[in-house]
Amino acid sequence: MAENDDLKALIRTILDFPKPGIQFRDITTLLLDAQGFASAIARMAAATRGPVDLVAGIEARGFIFAAALAAPLNAGVLLIRKDGKLPGATIAEDYALEYGTDRIAVHEDALAPGQRVLLVDDLIATGGTARAAVRLLRKAGGLVEQAQFLVDLPDLGGADALRADGLAVDSLIG
Ligand code: 5GP
Repeated sequence: MAENDDLKALIRTILDFPKPGIQFRDITTLLLDAQGFASAIARMAAATRGPVDLVAGIEARGFIFAAALAAPLNAGVLLIRKDGKLPGATIAEDYALEYGTDRIAVHEDALAPGQRVLLVDDLIATGGTARAAVRLLRKAGGLVEQAQFLVDLPDLGGADALRADGLAVDSLIG
């Protein structure tokens, strides 16, 4: 069995969600599996390159992985939220969707200049969300050199685009 096939078996594909024609990779089934989730976090921690100060998770599923990685990496958790959800002063970044744009934000004082940030999300597809997160974290003063995803959909090119932005990118399933 190829490496990480055990994890791949714990995610499922839901057809026509959230729109007709989309094949949605559902990771909630992996989260329900105690060994599978623990193993995913251990593998992500092991793949992390050097010490990091903060693990930044993208709302909402990215929070789960960022929070679980914080203790083994001895790092804090930085929440990248949809705009309008954070109570303090924020800086924000827009990114293109298929139709229209979306906006993510962090507290403007969340990062000290030069802090090393690991970006984490459950899945990378086109990379639009993750690339906006990198722009946002760098604008906020962070040193963002690596990103980790549970799932990569490589045909959509997001991980390669992130690499072109100067990041090391790892995923467990792809
Ligand atoms: P991208 O911006 O790379 O095209 O899309 C990635 C973002 O959308 C991530 O925040 C991810 O949570 C969400 N996403 C897009 N498609 C899927 C999918 O099939 N499954 C899951 N779990 N998340 C998805």
